[in-house]
Amino acid sequence: MLNQFIETEGPVPVYDTCDILVVGGGAAGHSAAVAAVRAGAKKVILMERYGYMGGDATGGYVIMVPNLSWYDKSFVRGLQEEWFTRLKNIPGAVLGPDLSEIGSTEKIFVNRWKGIHDCASRAGFNGCKEQCLVRSVYFEPNQLKIEMDKMLLEHKENIKVLCHSWGVKPIMDGDAVKGVIFESKEGRQAVLAQVVIDATGDGDLFYQTGAPYEKLTDEGCRSSATALVWRIGGIDWNAYTQWLNTTPGAFGMIVQGLQKVAGYKTMPLPSNQNDICWMNNWFYGRDCSNINDITQTELEVRDSIRDIIEFFRETVPIAFSHAFLYDIAPQLGARCSRRLIGEYVMSIRDFATASKFDDVIAWHSTICQINDCGPVEIPYRCILPQKVENMLCPGRHLSADTAAIDWLNLIPQCVGTGQAAGVAAAVAVQDGVSVRRVDIKKVQDILVDQDVPLPRNEKFSAKAPDYQKTVEEHEYGLYTDLAKEYIEKEGSIDSYRQW
Ligand SMILES: Cc1cc2nc3c(=O)[nH]c(=O)nc-3n(C[C@H](O)[C@H](O)[C@H](O)COP(=O)(O)OP(=O)(O)OC[C@H]3O[C@@H](n4cnc5c(N)ncnc54)[C@H](O)[C@@H]3O)c2cc1C
Repeated sequence: MLNQFIETEGPVPVYDTCDILVVGGGAAGHSAAVAAVRAGAKKVILMERYGYMGGDATGGYVIMVPNLSWYDKSFVRGLQEEWFTRLKNIPGAVLGPDLSEIGSTEKIFVNRWKGIHDCASRAGFNGCKEQCLVRSVYFEPNQLKIEMDKMLLEHKENIKVLCHSWGVKPIMDGDAVKGVIFESKEGRQAVLAQVVIDATGDGDLFYQTGAPYEKLTDEGCRSSATALVWRIGGIDWNAYTQWLNTTPGAFGMIVQGLQKVAGYKTMPLPSNQNDICWMNNWFYGRDCSNINDITQTELEVRDSIRDIIEFFRETVPIAFSHAFLYDIAPQLGARCSRRLIGEYVMSIRDFATASKFDDVIAWHSTICQINDCGPVEIPYRCILPQKVENMLCPGRHLSADTAAIDWLNLIPQCVGTGQAAGVAAAVAVQDGVSVRRVDIKKVQDILVDQDVPLPRNEKFSAKAPDYQKTVEEHEYGLYTDLAKEYIEKEGSIDSYRQW
């Protein structure tokens, strides 16, 4: 069999030109486009391979955003908080403790939320000695799709959206990215841009530029797992959690039963409605940029759905006797594949020792327990590729090692790094400099204006002096037993895994 075919080079028509081209309209890319125009960019093109924005968060039915707060402070604000404040008044669109309630240890609130995964902390985590309320939000993915469109339409003079357009190849001039070739129903065309933001999640573009990157090789990490999420309707989640809490051995029965019936790891999680749950799943060691791995994931999950529903009906009739297949996510759940080796690579050490960075672009509470979920600084260099000019790479493919990636590729961190990429690209274009040489102080000040908390930033400290005080008082969540062990022994990363 012929194992190579030489494609004939030919002219590619230029579809359009712009200041900033964002490829991928997920949490990171959508945020980058919106943040860029709000920072003054005049012409942004947002290119998306599917017909809607949100990626994993909408099309992948990943409908839960955890740990936005630490103690009584909401650290992950900016565009991430805007999603939820916008959706708050839409009936049935979001569920989660209100901003005004976070940090509360009052039993009446804690009891109300503790059956809803991650909305009440485990005692001793999220900065609370007792269980307390955490800003974690469940949302209806189709409502978020609509809202993400609205956010773009509000800027329609400056953002041009290209749906059903698949970015396939960066246009290079030496080390500089000059645009992207894309495929669509209209054929193969090009968009030229001063800055290209690769927000594809799988580094579809940066891996072809010569920028260093790696693939996940560590099968133990959550990020190495593919998924296909689906939802069960007609259930009673409160009755299910009640049953779990009052039946000896119930949790083990569910975990083992599901593994046996499905043949892979899968668990139900609550949603924004009591009568619907979502089935999360984990196919470890599969690569979401490998055709065979993702095809297998699609087929195996769908093949198991009817059996899983039957299992629930038989095992927990009090909650599942009327259960039915509500829907299946329109797109694969992609956690991680290619990962940038950027100008800085985040590691466990940054969490365990609360590293401080002059180029900090996000200061996020996370799901990482080594620092008690306390805020961690994410530097600009994590989205800045080595060797290549005019490109930024926010989102789930950012630069982190195989342990830290599990804590940095969640929706909040994708929104946060996307927002920062958009602002940095806008500032670079306005100042006529490359994104490598952008005035980071200016970027940080604009981020603060866009409601992003940042440490040691004068504007932010003037606005909210108590944030710095909170982290210092609680020593950034350091000195947990895990952090002490890491600092003393630099032990194996297995002990620091989330799950
Ligand atoms: C099953 C599962 C459970 C998870 N659980 C949680 C959770 O509970 N909470 C949480 O916060 N996070 C969770 N995560 C992680 C989180 O959902 C993702 O890491 C995050 O949403 C990724 O955002 P992103 O914008 O970087 O990438 P994506 O959401 O993957 O967005 C990339 C976008 O780019 C588009 N695209 C890709 N390639 C191209 C191309 N070549 N040309 C044009 N467009 C392209 C895609 O269609 C997509 O819209 C989970 C992930 C999965 C899969």
